[in-house]
Formats: sequence, structure tokens, C-alpha cells
Amino acid sequence: MENKIYDVAVVGGGIAGYTAALVLKNFKKNFLWVGTRPFGEKLLKAERVKNFPSFTGNGVELAALLERQMIVEEVPFTKAKIDGVYASGDRFLLTSGALSYNARSVILATGVETETVKGAAAYLGRGVSYCAVCDGSLYRGKTVVCEISSKNYEEEAEYLAGLAKKVYAFCKYKNAAFRAENIERVDDTIAELEGEGRITGVITKSGRKIEADGVFFLKDSAPPAVLVGGLETEGGHVKVARDMSTNLAGLFAAGDVTGRPYQYLKAAGEGLVAAYSIHNYLVHEKSFATQNLFP
Ligand SMILES: Cc1cc2nc3c(=O)[nH]c(=O)nc-3n(C[C@H](O)[C@H](O)[C@H](O)COP(=O)(O)OP(=O)(O)OC[C@H]3O[C@@H](n4cnc5c(N)ncnc54)[C@H](O)[C@@H]3O)c2cc1C
Repeated sequence: MENKIYDVAVVGGGIAGYTAALVLKNFKKNFLWVGTRPFGEKLLKAERVKNFPSFTGNGVELAALLERQMIVEEVPFTKAKIDGVYASGDRFLLTSGALSYNARSVILATGVETETVKGAAAYLGRGVSYCAVCDGSLYRGKTVVCEISSKNYEEEAEYLAGLAKKVYAFCKYKNAAFRAENIERVDDTIAELEGEGRITGVITKSGRKIEADGVFFLKDSAPPAVLVGGLETEGGHVKVARDMSTNLAGLFAAGDVTGRPYQYLKAAGEGLVAAYSIHNYLVHEKSFATQNLFP
């Protein structure tokens, strides 16, 4: 664990998180900007960036401009996936595997990812998990299914294989390779989750039934309410006030994670507002903490 206490932890490397970090840098705040990669994966996928004043080009070109600015402005980035954000007294504890960080406030800018299997959210805490390191020990000697989004998460599947009796791996990328003998690769797609109250297995697109005690979705982002216990959400989006504050004192949110429209400018704008609000919050911490944000 780092002994350092940051003023702010910005979670999410996309444009919302970047803008928040840039503004916090200008405010001379002591902040941690952490994410899976700077500027996010979505930006690189845009064949042509629309609705962005002064810019014509694709996402890769915009990412290069942002990177240049990040270097010139000296905005530090920490590459890590955050598994959990916990309010603990007057600060937040953020965990990333065996690592953890402390911060007085948080900006959640984790974007949105559509659910790959419908209804997964209904089984959260009842057999569905997004973090092998956090929940793996619950499946010691049991059977689990993993949907793995990229090679980066093979290690988490191997970790599960060290605990579970059997791991069925559904890989959403090419060239998957596992060392553990109890991992069976399934060249199919999970179509449905089965269970009554708790997960009992999955049904694949081709109709194969696999009995399992748990299903792990190993990917960059988890639903915000899974990441932060007690966080109020609506339709999967974080419920925010106009200043981007949430129902948890000291925790703000920005970007796609707060809702539509899913656009760069809206994400960047909210990142900026969240950074301004945090600046204000850190000065008047006590009065913010007692405020009713959703009257
Ligand atoms: C193909 C495509 C084209 C698009 N074209 C346009 C366009 O032309 N114009 C436009 O305005 N918008 C466009 N968009 C939408 C735009 O990409 C999004 O609105 C924008 O990226 C949102 O930024 P964000 O920072 O909120 O989230 P994201 O860009 O999604 O960034 C969130 C980041 O946080 C990371 N993250 C999530 N959870 C964690 C965690 N627990 N720990 C660490 N990191 C985490 C994610 O991996 C990601 O890198 C397009 C989207 C796509 C997919």
C-alpha cells in the first residue's frame, strides 16, 4: 500500500479522466490519474471524429494530439485497473490487485461498456464477478466460467485456475494460450446465464450447457455500482448533480459513466466541471459532506 494520500484520484484514462487530470494539474492538486491506458480504447476506434470543434481527423490523430499535450503539460498517468473504491472515514481506498491508493476525493470516469450477456447485473454478488483477485477465493475447488475480453486478462484466468477445480474460458480475442491444465477453452459465445437466485451455469450460442458455480467477466470496466459500494445509479449510469457530485460525499463522476449523449465533448466538459467541483470540495470538505445532493 502507498502511504501517500492524494487530494484526488481520477479513475479512467478516457477523455473525461484526462480532462479532469489536466485541470487538476493546473489547480496544482496532488492527484493520481489511473486507468488502463491514456485516452481510452474508444478514441482509437473512431474512424472520423465528429462533433468536436476545430478538429477533423480520426481517433488515432486526436489521441496523438492529446498525448503531445499530456507530455507538454506534464500530466502523470498510472497504468492500473482499479478493482474497488471504498469510502473509509474522511478518505477513499482504491484497490488494484495487491496495490492500493488513498485519496481524499475521487472522480469516477470509467466510461460505459455494454453488457456482453444480458441479465448479468441481476446476478452480481450471486455468482457473477468482474474481478478474479477479489472474488476468486470464493470458488476454491468449484467450477467457473470466464469471459475474457483481451490477452491482458489471461493472467486473471490463470489465477482462478489455481483456486478452482475447472475453468471454462470464452475468449473474445485470437491466439489465447493458457498454461493451467484445468482451463478449457470454449470456442463459442455465452448466450445466457442460468440460475435461480444464484448462478448455476451458462448456455452457449450453439446450445451447449455448462454447469458452473460462478461466471467472471474479465475486462477493463465493471458497472460503477460494482466498483463503488453504495453508489447511486440509474439505468447503469451514475446519478450526478449538476456539479458532478454523487450521493457519496467526495466522490464525483464524469463522462459516459454518467449517461448519454456518449460524446467526447460532453465527457471532457464533465471532467472539467468535476475537477472544479473537487477544487471547491477540498476547500469546504465539511460543508459538502453534510449537503443533500439530491433534494
Ligand atoms: C467507434 C466509436 C466512435 C466514436 N466516435 C465519436 C465521435 O466521432 N464523436 C464523439 O463525440 N464521440 C464519439 N464516440 C464516443 C466517445 O468515444 C465517448 O463518448 C468517449 O470516449 C467517452 O469518454 P470517457 O472518458 O467518458 O470514457 P472512455 O473513453 O470509455 O474511457 C474510460 C476509460 O476508463 C477505463 N476504465 C474503466 N474502468 C476502469 C477501472 N476500473 N480501472 C481503470 N480504468 C478503467 C476504460 O478502460 C477506458 O480506458 C465514439 C465511440 C466509439 C466506440
